[in-house]
Amino acid sequence: MVRPFVRLRTSPRTAELIRASFVLKSMNREQASHFMFEAIKEGRKALGKCYPNPPVGCVLVKDGNIISKGHTNEPGQPHAEAMALKQLKGNLNNVTAFVTLEPCSFHGRTPSCAQELVKRRVQEIYIGIIDPHPRNQGAGIKILESAGISVHLGLLEKEIKNDLKPYLSIDG
Ligand SMILES: [Zn+2]
Repeated sequence: MVRPFVRLRTSPRTAELIRASFVLKSMNREQASHFMFEAIKEGRKALGKCYPNPPVGCVLVKDGNIISKGHTNEPGQPHAEAMALKQLKGNLNNVTAFVTLEPCSFHGRTPSCAQELVKRRVQEIYIGIIDPHPRNQGAGIKILESAGISVHLGLLEKEIKNDLKPYLSIDG
């Protein structure tokens, strides 16, 4: 069994969401925390090149193994999710995505990551925190859920807020 690298400290509401999300899932909380921590580490690779975008990390997992990773690139270049997706071919219907920040819902300098995840038919997604960007704020999650993707919010929220606080207007 994989041990989490960091101690979990979550709000009661987050804990409730996490508990609810594992009722029907094959992946347990420790495994999911392990993969989210890998996404956090991947996101740190974006530091120094992603500004003004936040240093987001994404890992894609199949059968308990990481099959692709991505992080925020220079503005106009692929976001974390797009970078991870473009390394793989075809439908990803047995793949679980872990991304530190809610995928973007809108086409800005790059296409919407939420739409890209839907197009590739990712099965489920763990998202660390909601994107406070006024054009996102849950809109990315709505796109994913509307397409039938299982969304789990709040895993390693505290650690992710610490990393992203300089980039986002968030409490933490
Ligand atoms: Zn994006």
